[in-house]
Parts: sequence; C-alpha cells; structure tokens
Amino acid sequence: MGHKFGYYSLEMSLEEVLNRTHSFWANNSGKINSQIKSPNSLIYTLIIQRDISMMSYGETYTMKIGYNPDNATTYVSVEVALSFGYGMQWLKPQGVIKRWALELGTNPMKLERTIAPNYIKMFDEIQNMPPQAGVQEPIIYCPSCGKKNNRNNTFCQECGTKLPE
Ligand SMILES: [Zn+2]
Repeated sequence: MGHKFGYYSLEMSLEEVLNRTHSFWANNSGKINSQIKSPNSLIYTLIIQRDISMMSYGETYTMKIGYNPDNATTYVSVEVALSFGYGMQWLKPQGVIKRWALELGTNPMKLERTIAPNYIKMFDEIQNMPPQAGVQEPIIYCPSCGKKNNRNNTFCQECGTKLPE
C-alpha cells in the first residue's frame, strides 16, 4: 500500500518523450486509462494501470510529462500506487520504472516516499506558460493500444478505440 515517487529530466522534445513512453507501456502490459492535456498543451498527465497478474501487483502509475520551452527540457514525475503489498512488492514497479528510464536514456533512480516540491512548482510554472508555436503535437495517442494516430481521426486505426478529443 501507499505511494512512491520518481522525478526525471530529459533533454528531449515533448513529442518524443510521449511517443516513447506510450510504446513502453504498450510493451510492458500497461493500459493507459486516461491522458489529460493542459490547456497550453505543454503538460500531459497519463494514468497507467497494470492489473494484478504474474507480472504485476496491481500498480497504478501517474506520469506527468511537462515540457519547458525555456530550456528545451521535458520533465517527468511518476507517482506509483500499489493496490496491495508494501515491502517486496515495491520491487516490481521499481523495476518497471527503471526500465522506462533506461529506455528513455536517463538515470534510473530509486523511487522515494517523498514528493519533490521543486517539481510541483516547476509544473505550475509550465502550466501557466502560453502555448508554444514550436511544440509539435499533430498526433494523438490511442488510450487503449498506444499507437500514434492523426489528430483528425475519430477512431484508432490500429484497434478501433474511440480517440479522446
Ligand atoms: Zn488503438
């Protein structure tokens, strides 16, 4: 039970981080239950569920992915909640986030029990920035299978799921 947190910074575009994160979850039994975009399109919040199985203790990951155009850096905060377990069970989500970090080319740090106030402040700042002309997001990711789709599509071309607005 409980929550743990991890914080990462990546010198990568928002689109690339989103793209690679969606592929990662599609390959690691993570179902993206929702994707919420900030009004200025600079922050995406993904909620990912891994159901209880041989591979998972029933983990929910909340990944906040925010792009700061001032330094061309994408910041990610990860909050993990376990539906049961509290000791050894943390090794599973720790391993999953470690693989995600390695695939994205960043340092796979240990998940912590504490929230990083500097990240909360930074995401607030990004949230309040005006929309940026340079940020590319002509695509939309399927919340079910994670495949890229053209923004104008109503349904996913891969699996037929209705795409969000
Ligand atoms: Zn799909």
